[in-house]
Amino acid sequence: MFMTHLECSLTGERYDSDRLQNLSKAGKPLMARYDLDAVAARLTREELASRPAGMWKWRELLPLPDGAEPVSLGEPETPLIPLDRVGLRQGARPPIVKDEGRLPTGSFKARGMAAAVSMAKHFGVERIALPTNGNAGAALAAYAARAGMTSLVICPAETPDINIRETAAYGAEVIVADGQIDECGRIVGEGGAQGRWFDCSTLKEPYRLEGKKVMGLELAEQFGWELPDVIFYPTGGGTGLIGMWKGFDELEKIGLIGAKRPRMVAVQAVGCAPMVRAWEQGEEFAERWEGAATMATGIRVPKAVGDFLILRAVRESGGAAIAVEEEAIMEAVDDAARFDGMLLCPEGGAVLAAWRQALERGLVGKDERAVLFNCANGNKYPLADRARRMRLGEMDAASL
Ligand SMILES: *Cc1c(COP(=O)(O)O)cnc(C)c1O
Repeated sequence: MFMTHLECSLTGERYDSDRLQNLSKAGKPLMARYDLDAVAARLTREELASRPAGMWKWRELLPLPDGAEPVSLGEPETPLIPLDRVGLRQGARPPIVKDEGRLPTGSFKARGMAAAVSMAKHFGVERIALPTNGNAGAALAAYAARAGMTSLVICPAETPDINIRETAAYGAEVIVADGQIDECGRIVGEGGAQGRWFDCSTLKEPYRLEGKKVMGLELAEQFGWELPDVIFYPTGGGTGLIGMWKGFDELEKIGLIGAKRPRMVAVQAVGCAPMVRAWEQGEEFAERWEGAATMATGIRVPKAVGDFLILRAVRESGGAAIAVEEEAIMEAVDDAARFDGMLLCPEGGAVLAAWRQALERGLVGKDERAVLFNCANGNKYPLADRARRMRLGEMDAASL
């Protein structure tokens, strides 16, 4: 057992990690803390290299106690794929996509749910719930099914149909409601407080963050223990960005990397950019974004409970927060697919568009090593129908 306790991310107050927890008394996320000396004695570079690839090789930096079996669907190490031709056309070093679309349920939400549902099962949870714009619901439903729990998922009306159906396919009770994700979350919180289910909302329980932290751990090992110059992350609740930032600290403390950190760039859509606004105005917390709208539903999050943690990581890293237009998102998705055979999700498109914008604005250099997070499989999203319809009898090969 390497986790020692939980800590309020705002006040530093200590909480027990041997029972279920949601937010701290201050209403802020709790963060898992580990006996890092003990971890360092076990997790050497050689030891890591000898283990099978995947999320659970990082077991000592994950919350699940020794001996407890993870609830797993086979979470792989995701590959790094350079966009060679997209880079060439931009006259820049090819940006490198970390393709999280390879995970179970087709999105990186699986990482967080693998950790959170494993812990919930360990604590005897029978029913688990969250609000979602799509991928989190599907991942929760899948891992809950695997753990033998029932699940309840509440989605805003604009949630992509495929996500709604996918979530129900795993046996979850799915409710489509009006309103935005934070409004759906209020009902989930209410039921959680009444003991009707366990509230597994983004950052309202401590372990989804730990699962997503593994993205940063993997990156460090994949880059030969020298982190890239800049990371572009599509930011909704910010779990991955906050998680990676925490993971880098832990890696340094256990002696696996040095002090060098990537600049963290939080990417949002112009139709929902609370972090960008707060970053530009120098605020510590972000006000709710009214009238949120973007096709990149994974980042349509008007109010994030971890706002100050996102902003802190962006600032400490010397990074930036960037908003991109819908047309730039679509163009980026098209380009990565046509030029490099990589079908990004819209959020991944937003990240590529942000990298392009950052190049133009001089926020990132042409020779810098940039990592772009593609957080879901592009096949989960509606695509343009560009085929021609023809009758076979009227076709001849010479005209094609
Ligand atoms: C959830 C989600 C995001 C946002 O992730 P956070 O870590 O919560 O900010 C981005 N893209 C996709 C595809 C998602 O499903």
